[in-house]
Amino acid sequence: MQVDREERLDDCEFVPTDHWDERPQWAQPELIVVHCISLPEGVYGTGAPRRLFCGELDVTEHETFADLEGLRVSPHVLIDRDGTVQQMVSFDKRAWHAGVSAWCGRPGCNDYSIGIELEGDVASPFADAQYQSLAAVVSALLGKYQALSRTAIVGHNEIAPGRKEDPGLHFEWRRLYEMLDFAP
Ligand SMILES: [Zn+2]
Repeated sequence: MQVDREERLDDCEFVPTDHWDERPQWAQPELIVVHCISLPEGVYGTGAPRRLFCGELDVTEHETFADLEGLRVSPHVLIDRDGTVQQMVSFDKRAWHAGVSAWCGRPGCNDYSIGIELEGDVASPFADAQYQSLAAVVSALLGKYQALSRTAIVGHNEIAPGRKEDPGLHFEWRRLYEMLDFAP
C-alpha cells in the first residue's frame, strides 16, 4: 500500500464525504491520531460509522444515536473489523476527527494530523486484521510524509485527555510499532 500523487491510498475504496476543508497553508501531516468508533457502541458491522462520516446516518435508527444529530465529523481513514480500509478524506485536506485537542502544547490537531478510525470500542480488543491494515496504512504514511515519525502516533485520548478515551487500554501500541514496515 502506498500514498499516491492525489494523496490517497492506492489500494482501497475512496468513500467521498463533504466533512472536510482545507488545511491551513502552513500545515502538513505531522501527527497520526488513532481512534475507535462503533455504532451502536460495541456493535460491529452495522455500517453506521461510515454513514455518520458521510452525513447519511438516520439518527432514528437507534435510541443512542439521538445526540449524533447534526454532527459533522470524519476521519481520513476508516478500518472495519475485518481490516477493510476505506479512505474518506485525502491526506492533504483537513478531516474533522480530533475536536478540541492539543499535542505538545499545539492546539487544533486537525490542522496538522491524519485521523484513523478503527471500528471498535474502548472495552474490547481489536481484531488481528485491523492491526495488519493499520500497520500498512501507517507505514505508507511514514514513507510519504517527511514530517511524520514513529514518535508522532497517538491515541485520541492523548490529545484530548479527560474528554476522549479512545482507542482505549485494549489497543496494543507495541504490536503496532513492531508491525511497521517502512524505509525512513
Ligand atoms: Zn476519537
